[in-house]
Amino acid sequence: MPHMPPAHTDCLFCKIVAGEIPSRKVYEDDQILVFHDIKPAAPVHLLLIPKKHIATLADTTPEDAPVLGHILVKAAELAKEHGCEAGFRTIVNVGKAGGQEVYHVHLHVLGGAPRLGPMLTPPA
Ligand code: 5GP
Ligand code: ZN
Repeated sequence: MPHMPPAHTDCLFCKIVAGEIPSRKVYEDDQILVFHDIKPAAPVHLLLIPKKHIATLADTTPEDAPVLGHILVKAAELAKEHGCEAGFRTIVNVGKAGGQEVYHVHLHVLGGAPRLGPMLTPPA
């Protein structure tokens, strides 16, 4: 296996990277891993993660820019491959207020429906 940064103990996505927890893998290279979300919110729901543990987008530094850019470009490529030519949505939830549940930065790719629902429900 190529050089791998140490996995964070108790991080679910680090365990998926390490193969300790199974996932439906879509794409992998030395920098990133892509797999299907276990609880899809749309017909296509992919998660793209850096193999390196970074807790949230708010914890990234300029040194992470190449892998973050790689994730965005790969998201567009894989969305097309999964039949989302008509469009798709990307989401990064950040921290408690952002609704983040897994603290290993990830990009959601959602699509495959004729029209996704509204992005956010306005506050009452
Ligand atoms: P967040 O709310 O942190 O942005 O999103 C975390 C996502 O990870 C959720 O959409 C959730 O369904 C997904 N997820 C949680 N546990 C697992 C798992 O064990 N395997 C996979 N493939 N996805 C998971
Ligand atoms: Zn992690």
